[in-house]
Amino acid sequence: MIRVSELRKSYGKHEVLKGIDAEIRKGEVVVIIGPSGSGKSTFLRCLNRLEEPSSGGVYFEGRMITGKQADLNATRQQMGMVFQHFNLFPHMSVLDNLTIGPRKIKKLSKDEAEAIAVDLLRKVGLEDKRDAFPGSLSGGQKQRIAIARALAMQPDVMLFDEPTSALDPEMVGEVLDVMKQLAMNGMTMAIVTHEMGFAREVGDRLLFMDGGVIVEEGVPKDVFLQPRHARTQEFLSKVL
Ligand code: ADP
Ligand code: MG
Repeated sequence: MIRVSELRKSYGKHEVLKGIDAEIRKGEVVVIIGPSGSGKSTFLRCLNRLEEPSSGGVYFEGRMITGKQADLNATRQQMGMVFQHFNLFPHMSVLDNLTIGPRKIKKLSKDEAEAIAVDLLRKVGLEDKRDAFPGSLSGGQKQRIAIARALAMQPDVMLFDEPTSALDPEMVGEVLDVMKQLAMNGMTMAIVTHEMGFAREVGDRLLFMDGGVIVEEGVPKDVFLQPRHARTQEFLSKVL
């Protein structure tokens, strides 16, 4: 579904991504791990063009989606993104957070958008919060709403950048459960996370990034049990 070819990204003289080649197949859950500063967020942000790559390309179902000719809005609709810090619209109710994108960008009617929103709120277990404002919700609830908001655009792929890193420990499980449900229903997902148990249980494939490159990849269980590279071993010895 997504192919990344020779992707490079520099900020000034600082090269952050140093030639990434990767694929995400339809229905696959790809988990990305690696030390802080290794380029994980930049990689995800290049996929949906929150950042413009310096060189190389990203292809979605064979079509190049990077570069000047590509339609930025189409790409953003195809790829939902969930951030560490939720980024909900604080002045809008939960229902409005979920319906504004579909109404403004996909031109759905209010009724159509609300029907989708209510269905998603039920799926993330928060149908009773439709009229609440983000400020009144717990971190775990906010993140479940952020996931529902991204899903409301009916994307083909979901990108998650450390979705549980800002949460109190007791709220991590409820968010991972929603993500696991999504995975079981066949959603294509790329997830940056430090939750190694989740990576092992839900991930189809694991990418270990360090210093702007993918150092190692494989089935999560295999990489955890028998990392091939010294850098992977060292990282895993600190986090497992
Ligand atoms: P990770 O998500 O793995 O922690 P990032 O992709 O956030 O890593 O960052 C990789 C490197 O790129 C870091 O050294 C970071 O300081 C740098 N970087 C990220 N975003 C920017 C930016 N907008 N401008 C300049 N440097 C950046
Ligand atoms: Mg990051």
